[in-house]
Amino acid sequence: MSKEAKHTNYLVLENYIGGKFVPCGKHLDSFDPSTGELYCKVPDSGPEEVDAAVKAAKDAFPDWSAKSPAERSQVLNKLADLIEARLEEFVQAESKDQGKTATFARNVDIPRSAYNFRFFASSVLHHLTECSQMDHMGCLNYTIRCPVGVAGLISPWNLPLYLLTWKIAPAVATGNTVVAKPSEMTSVTAWMMCQLLEEAGFPPGVVNIVFGTGPRAGDALVSHPDVPLISFTGSTATARVITERSAPFCKKLSLELGGKNPAIIFADADMEQCISTTIQSSFSNQGEICLCTSRVFVERSIYPVFLSRFVEAARQWKTGAPSDPANNNGALISKEHLEKVKGYVALALTEGAQVHCGEGVDKLTLPQRNEGGYFMLPTVISGVTDSSALMQEEIFGPVTCVTPFDKEEEVISRANGVRYGLSATVWSRDVGRVHRVARKLQAGLVWTNCWLVRDLNLPFGGMKSSGIGREGGKDSYHFFTEVKVIAVKH
Ligand code: NDP
Repeated sequence: MSKEAKHTNYLVLENYIGGKFVPCGKHLDSFDPSTGELYCKVPDSGPEEVDAAVKAAKDAFPDWSAKSPAERSQVLNKLADLIEARLEEFVQAESKDQGKTATFARNVDIPRSAYNFRFFASSVLHHLTECSQMDHMGCLNYTIRCPVGVAGLISPWNLPLYLLTWKIAPAVATGNTVVAKPSEMTSVTAWMMCQLLEEAGFPPGVVNIVFGTGPRAGDALVSHPDVPLISFTGSTATARVITERSAPFCKKLSLELGGKNPAIIFADADMEQCISTTIQSSFSNQGEICLCTSRVFVERSIYPVFLSRFVEAARQWKTGAPSDPANNNGALISKEHLEKVKGYVALALTEGAQVHCGEGVDKLTLPQRNEGGYFMLPTVISGVTDSSALMQEEIFGPVTCVTPFDKEEEVISRANGVRYGLSATVWSRDVGRVHRVARKLQAGLVWTNCWLVRDLNLPFGGMKSSGIGREGGKDSYHFFTEVKVIAVKH
């Protein structure tokens, strides 16, 4: 356990390097988004700390990579047990650090974080490599897969432990050692997980976590010559910088980036189910999920009815103190982000759009304690042109735009008319249409008559500016290992 400094009202985090908590000379402030108060001091790590972590990971690699998948699997499962045993502590910490409701952290973030370890603990036991016979040449060819080495993992603030463990679990299951850098705004649950690694059975240096900002700690990791692989989840803008910085080293890159995800609603859709799911897909986690819907295309014949029922349902999506189980949404991540998201609503008004509910229309009443927090009501906007920034840029907040369409081909082309291609939802009872439209949409994932159904065996990722590469059962195995072909003449 760390010699954690728990001050009267804030935590001081330390890096976790080589199996030990290591204090850092400089710190950054991190705030509780639901009150605006200081929550913790996060190490402001730079090249020196990253270098120490990479060295520890490099030293640990020969032994860890030599273990059998079954031995590694046992350690991962034990860590999952330990997280589950402390589920409520993790839930409270994630909610306080990120602003999300405790309910969301309890139902989604923390169970999934534990499950990420369980899933890869199991899947790593079941992979097969390939073999090809060339009998006419007296040759047998086969492939082997080897861990790459020290994996650099960089994750964002919206699903902090969930997305971090989505990277750590497959990386270490396949025999790599890691240096991870979570977002500086949401570091607490990663630090709490470090307190469990030794008990789970991770040898020192297998998992190292360095806290700090992207431009310092993140950049030092990306440009470190001994880190041959980077798995990054975050914005498209940062991905561009990472691609440039890692290019001189020809690093293996996986980039899971932003989205501008459409929902396409045909007139024959099940209206009840479609409205309740599209409310969730638009506003869950304050709209701070890369897979959130932010453009809703509705067939014109049902448009007026849909819009009025959708607005009514958005008003029922409650925003307030994250600890209150009656609330669906908590606070946005930061003051700056809140201002950015509100800026899109202001822009909509200058463009002559109509704001039906939420920001600037409805009153947000908060408990006194939360008045300094970064809250915003679910906001539904119509009358926005497809070329507007509201329909083109990732807002990443509780704002969605609704617009009518007439024809199938028209809506496919409009849905595809953005630079992103992460996910989409299609609502119709016509099976043929559902397949046809899903096939033509430019998105890595298309959900029909549902949202956020995830089978971790299947590839996750986006096309166009939403990313490069896929992660998931077999895809993560491929990404976190190097393949080698061996030809044997007999
Ligand atoms: P950012 O791109 O700003 O940051 C992501 C991570 O990268 C953070 O840890 C950040 O550090 C770090 N970082 C920033 N600059 C650099 C750099 N120059 N070198 C190395 N690392 C750097 O994204 P956000 O944190 O704002 O997250 C939101 C974005 O993530 C949205 O665009 C969202 O769509 C996307 N996302 C994509 C998902 C997907 O699977 N496709 C899933 C979830 C989110 P720090 O912030 O500490 O400075």
